[in-house]
Amino acid sequence: MPFGVGRSLADLLRLVVLVVVALVALVVPVLHFDIQRRYLDGNLTTLSLLTAEQLMRQVIARNPELWDYEEGRVTGLLRDELCGVRVRQVIHAEAKGVVAEVGEPPLSPALGHRAPLLDAGRVVGVLETSASLRPLLVDSLLLALLLSVVGAILAALFCRYPLARLRRAEHDIRYLAEHDPLTGLLNRHVVEALFERESARARRHRLRLSIIIFDIDHFKRVNDQHGHDCGDRVLRQLAGLVSRHVRASDYLVRWGGEEFLVLSTHTDLAMARALVEKLRRLVASHDFGLPQSVTISLGVCACSPGDGLERCVSCADAAMYRAKRAGRNRWFEGEGEDSTTEG
Ligand code: GH3
Ligand code: MG
Ligand code: MG
Repeated sequence: MPFGVGRSLADLLRLVVLVVVALVALVVPVLHFDIQRRYLDGNLTTLSLLTAEQLMRQVIARNPELWDYEEGRVTGLLRDELCGVRVRQVIHAEAKGVVAEVGEPPLSPALGHRAPLLDAGRVVGVLETSASLRPLLVDSLLLALLLSVVGAILAALFCRYPLARLRRAEHDIRYLAEHDPLTGLLNRHVVEALFERESARARRHRLRLSIIIFDIDHFKRVNDQHGHDCGDRVLRQLAGLVSRHVRASDYLVRWGGEEFLVLSTHTDLAMARALVEKLRRLVASHDFGLPQSVTISLGVCACSPGDGLERCVSCADAAMYRAKRAGRNRWFEGEGEDSTTEG
């Protein structure tokens, strides 16, 4: 049974960090842009009004004839930079159009202000002040980029340790969920998923799949005569022995107390027969360090395509019980056609 707790926690943590980084990377430059824009806006307003007043008082009111400009430009009259942004000012005189300008035309988008130029309370012109927002935008985008990079680096650094711990914990949980603690073999909870996967593969490639179930004979006697610890040791030895003698593509599972299951892939009935006999002999001839020999009874079933796990297992199980009833240390195959015992 796959465990996704650690993974989903890790994903959640990563998501939270990414969202925070994205928010910071988004919000800070927007705020930066807005604050700068407001500052610039305020300054432009002041500049427009001041200049309007100055012009009104010093230029228009006292020397209205000066509006007849020949040069077309006024130098030193107006500032043309604010907050690092170039500002353009244009003086429109009533009925004469543009009479003076300072600075380059701004690239859009721009902030703009219009202030009336008054002469004795009469509007005699307009002062237009505008500034390009592009440098601020570029600034803010660069800031966003910088924050994203710094945020991503910090996130990677800070998430490393908890993520590694989560991954380890997830691995441990999965291992515990899928393995038997005594023998280290897979436990019966994983068989269903394994069977689904392998039978689908077998159907796809037209291969056979066999299931073997075996059970230690008179194991209760081992416990009774030599103690439970000794019984545990025999179980571990048996698990190690059998797992060394099945193929890497076979799955050995502790099915219950002293009962085991082999899910043998790419194995038809003839190959499964050879395998059960090999296992029977292997166990019977192995020295478990006990005065008596340890034997197993086995049942084998070559699953037909489309057979479910339950059907294959009950077929192998029934065969195994037939082997028990027939005297143990032997095997039967599903449907009860064949049987053998040690020589
Ligand atoms: P049979 O040949 O019919 O299978 O006889 P048996 O004695 O093996 O079968 P039975 O079901 O009567 O007994 C199984 C025993 O296996 C009983 C139980 O205490 C023992 N057993 C099950 N799991 C463990 C285990 O993890 N450790 C030990 N030491 N014994 C276990
Ligand atoms: Mg038994
Ligand atoms: Mg049993």
